[in-house]
Amino acid sequence: MAFKERVFSGMQPTGSLHLGNYLGAMVNWIALQKSHECIYCVVDMHAITVWQDPDELKSAIRQATATYIASGLDPKRSILFNQSEVSAHAELAWIFNCVARLGWLNRMTQFKEKAGKDRENASVGLYVYPNLMAADILAYRATHVPVGDDQKQHLELARDIAQKFNNDFKPWIEKAGHADGAFFPLPEPVITGPATRVMSLRDGTKKMSKSDPSDLSRINLTDDADTIAKKIQKAKTDPEPLPSEAKGLEGRPEAENLVGIYAALAGKSKADVLAEFGGAQFSAFKKSLAEVCVSKLGPIAEEARRLMTDTAEIDRILADGAARARAIAKPVLDEVKDIVGFVRS
Ligand code: ATP
Ligand code: MG
Repeated sequence: MAFKERVFSGMQPTGSLHLGNYLGAMVNWIALQKSHECIYCVVDMHAITVWQDPDELKSAIRQATATYIASGLDPKRSILFNQSEVSAHAELAWIFNCVARLGWLNRMTQFKEKAGKDRENASVGLYVYPNLMAADILAYRATHVPVGDDQKQHLELARDIAQKFNNDFKPWIEKAGHADGAFFPLPEPVITGPATRVMSLRDGTKKMSKSDPSDLSRINLTDDADTIAKKIQKAKTDPEPLPSEAKGLEGRPEAENLVGIYAALAGKSKADVLAEFGGAQFSAFKKSLAEVCVSKLGPIAEEARRLMTDTAEIDRILADGAARARAIAKPVLDEVKDIVGFVRS
């Protein structure tokens, strides 16, 4: 069956959004609004899989919303809401907990990284996180999911869950009127652009993350010009000058990352950037990189700050988005309940 094309994606309010979130996902979110029906979520239920201070969480949800809008998300054209306001996510996640297999979750690298050595002490929520993510997407029967490279494995799991649900319940899905037995689409990851995996400024082998304890590891979308310049100046590099060709970046993860960030922000290829800066010392390159960062991100930070002066308006936008999201997810969930054999009043 051909499913109606629909886009879903979300980010966690675990801290302030950063350059990796922007280049890896947000740029594609904004672009897809032109051609698709888009549903964008602040995934607060994912955030509490690790401890969040309740006051800070409330503020981070509003801040993420403001940053989405400041980056170009149009809350009239797209649906923008916070996950916990639409109960279908949690309800479908439970059903998916019963569809997904333990062995599938045991392979998830994000859990291994986030749980670290003290796995016994990780929350159960962190372990079943990918099932909730599958529910986020499939509650809307979304077909396209713009994310960064690190989410590829979770998207594959979402496809496996959709496929297993379709197989396990095939006769009942057909009875419900879906002639080809496919109730859920197999959602496709949209992982494109010049910077699908932005690395930490302190360690070129680790991805830039909100939850990295070092603020110097990332450029936040709320950082002012001085902070951006300072972080780039302190970014780890190696002692060699920049190479003149992309091949010369091999085995130099920090150099590759900074050149990639410059290329993505300036709308150029890495080869173009190296044609300009090949042979230069990092000190000179970092100055130009800071300028590009400030000119692209400065206006976003400023607009987000302005939006945050009226949190009542942000809450209104989220409430409106949640109502529109519920209107799509509720009938999907009702059908799922019928298909699995629940009695509905
Ligand atoms: P956390 O550390 O709390 O997991 P995060 O920085 O990984 O935070 P998420 O909210 O988990 O951010 O992810 C939001 C989106 O940003 C996802 O689509 C994810 O793939 C993308 N993303 C996150 N980090 C990067 C990165 N370093 N480079 C490119 N995309 C990224
Ligand atoms: Mg993450």
